[in-house]
Amino acid sequence: MKEFSYTRPDSAEAAVAAVAQDPDAVYLAGGTNLVDHLKLGITTPGSLVDVSRLALGDVEPTPDGGLRIGATARNSDLAAHPYVRRHFSLLARALLAGASGQIRNVATTAGNLLQRTRCGYFQDPDARCNKRRPGAGCAAQEGWTRYHAVLGTSEHCLAAHPSDMAVALAALDAVVVVQGREGERRVPLTHFHRLPDDRPDLETVLEHGELVTAVEVPPLPYADRSAYRKVRDRASYAFALVSVAAALDVRDGRVAGVRLALGGVGTVPWRASVAEEALVGGPATEEAYREALLAELAQASPREDNAFKIPMARSTAVSVLRQLTQAPPPAGRRDQP
Ligand code: SF4
Repeated sequence: MKEFSYTRPDSAEAAVAAVAQDPDAVYLAGGTNLVDHLKLGITTPGSLVDVSRLALGDVEPTPDGGLRIGATARNSDLAAHPYVRRHFSLLARALLAGASGQIRNVATTAGNLLQRTRCGYFQDPDARCNKRRPGAGCAAQEGWTRYHAVLGTSEHCLAAHPSDMAVALAALDAVVVVQGREGERRVPLTHFHRLPDDRPDLETVLEHGELVTAVEVPPLPYADRSAYRKVRDRASYAFALVSVAAALDVRDGRVAGVRLALGGVGTVPWRASVAEEALVGGPATEEAYREALLAELAQASPREDNAFKIPMARSTAVSVLRQLTQAPPPAGRRDQP
């Protein structure tokens, strides 16, 4: 392993200054992904700036009924928070579907968003990988692609985004709060991750030195009718083949509102906006759900190994929407079909 320096600034401002001035510096928080990469030689920073003990770990309701999640809030603490469990159960379920209990105890909110793909070629320093080394080529193009993406791919990369939490946050219209040398900015989560295009190594819109300090989630009036479902090869500690985050508002038999995001199938957490647009105002029927998912997935570019993800994503999403349609009406509402 390459030698590196280690510092632990006592403020976010000092951390930003330390990383911004050193092109070879990276942030360290939970380290559940980064330390693996250091050992494998995938990442070779000259300096680690530890932000894990900054006062950025609070999880708080906001006055409008939303949620503010500190960047270093641990995944297990966030999933267990009573307000999250009660008002954003979709997010709690996505967190509990990810990793293992031990990893969730250490992994942070920002680290979860920034975790890197588990493409086997990316994790093999001897394989060609544009994400690891721009211009090197992509071994997955002629390789084994069972776990790769079918949406948002390019000829340069088809690695799937691995996060469950980010899929739920995409459905919830979350906003990422970022601090840089020039001040703070807010980025909608659906614009935070970049499609690979011809630069798969550029994974987010973050500039070097910018630090994620929080994630804000606006209130969702029909969050009590939401679900996260994950399909995977093992019952636990496995990445998604397909996952679905959904919330649905049905009134008088029609879709009054819907949030839908897919995991395991996209190079980024995939907000299914084509399906959402097709659904809103239409009948809350299985046939309409199937048509909407067909429209969403028409843009997919499958390989032989991962073509199964298209019918799997469609049937999983339709099943989740059907389940939400049939759920008992929220307390005080009697207008469900
Ligand atoms: Fe690298 Fe992406 Fe190709 Fe995997 S799919 S080898 S991450 S460029």
